[in-house]
Amino acid sequence: MLTSICGINWGDEGKGRMVDLLSSDYDVVCRYQGGNNAGHTVINDKGEFILNLLPSGILRDDVVNVLGPGMVIDIKHLCNEMDRLRAGGIVITPDNLKISDKAIITMPYHVQLDCLEEERLSKKTGKPYGSTRRGIAPVYADKYMKKVFRMGELLKPELMYERIHDIVEWKNLTIVNGYGAEPVKDEDIVAYFEEYGKKLKDYVIDTGLYLNAQHKAGKKIMFEAQLGALRDIDFGIVPYTSSSSTIAAYAPIGAGVPNLKLDNSIGIMKAYSSCVGAGPFTCEYFGEKAHKLREAGHEYGAATGRPRRVGPFDVVASRYGIRCQGADEIALTKLDVLDGYEEIEVCTAYKLRGEIIHEFPFTDVLDECEPVFETVKGWNCDISGCRKKEDLPKEALDYIKYLEKACECHIKYVSVGPERDAYIIMD
Ligand code: GDP
Ligand code: MG
Repeated sequence: MLTSICGINWGDEGKGRMVDLLSSDYDVVCRYQGGNNAGHTVINDKGEFILNLLPSGILRDDVVNVLGPGMVIDIKHLCNEMDRLRAGGIVITPDNLKISDKAIITMPYHVQLDCLEEERLSKKTGKPYGSTRRGIAPVYADKYMKKVFRMGELLKPELMYERIHDIVEWKNLTIVNGYGAEPVKDEDIVAYFEEYGKKLKDYVIDTGLYLNAQHKAGKKIMFEAQLGALRDIDFGIVPYTSSSSTIAAYAPIGAGVPNLKLDNSIGIMKAYSSCVGAGPFTCEYFGEKAHKLREAGHEYGAATGRPRRVGPFDVVASRYGIRCQGADEIALTKLDVLDGYEEIEVCTAYKLRGEIIHEFPFTDVLDECEPVFETVKGWNCDISGCRKKEDLPKEALDYIKYLEKACECHIKYVSVGPERDAYIIMD
């Protein structure tokens, strides 16, 4: 059984929290793309945790966690994240964490280049990409340039050290000659691998072989996405996207099992909209409306602390997200955030040059789109204690049905609080 948990919107839909909940039925949880630019907040019986690189299954004692070849791994950040979780009582050993030998290592100079480019853009155009500045775009660029180090090389450091000089020389062409910054030194890179590579090498395996064996043995495997459909490198709001594929169909590839097919795709969709960083966000609220929703939803980035932009639910973008993710069913999250509204707005269409459109347009055109809002009745009471469908007020049930109809996808789960048990099964 292979299930993907993916984001329908701009990210921060509560994927980590739903993986934490649904992984009770699974044996393996696997991250397949992205790096430490992810920020998943999970609250359960063990405490409150923020995960950047580790799969959310790491919080369950009987789940094995995999970092797949589609990922980019900042080894210093990973070591620190492991230490942070261990300090919170989480056990992490090569038995419950496996890292793909083919996963790429994010280097300190990737982080440096990410910052240099964002600063250059800020100065020149006043419009940086809104990067998390964790080196993700530069490291994926180098992956396709075939000038990167992979986790498997940590097992053969002599071979790796032979390549350091060539790669550093090539990187300095950009860092020194392009940006006028201080050069990277070979010995700093060696020291970096010495310090952090050593701590991780026991975790490195061929995750493709491992996952195939697990699948053959009848084990259940879950793929956890970082970021939502609209941040996908191919289908998202380019260039305000991540640099990897956040799409469910990519999960088996990014996990190391391109030979296996997904059995189902569960889309995580938020009851309203949020978007961190720059880029077109048609349904955006401003001023007092934005402030009220942001505070109700505590919309500040888990990885960066940045205030997230917010708006009402966007039918146009969400239907596109559902299509991109091939979602079979939906988990609707953060419904309780809308508790304090007599009336709830929904963005049902966009207005483009006087015409009403219902399909998500090309990114450049998005800048010209204006939102069309409809209003539905709110429930205006606290639903965070509801645990059964029957507990929900009629207006909340109507809102769920409204979204289901508008998005043409079955909503199976609804979450009404950040805690593990704060959810309702709608079937
Ligand atoms: P992810 O990146 O998709 O995993 O999502 P984030 O963790 O970045 O953002 C989701 C935030 O909402 C986290 O702080 C969660 O603890 C919180 N959260 C998740 N589900 C719910 C919910 O149903 N209600 C409320 N109030 N908060 C939730
Ligand atoms: Mg997040």
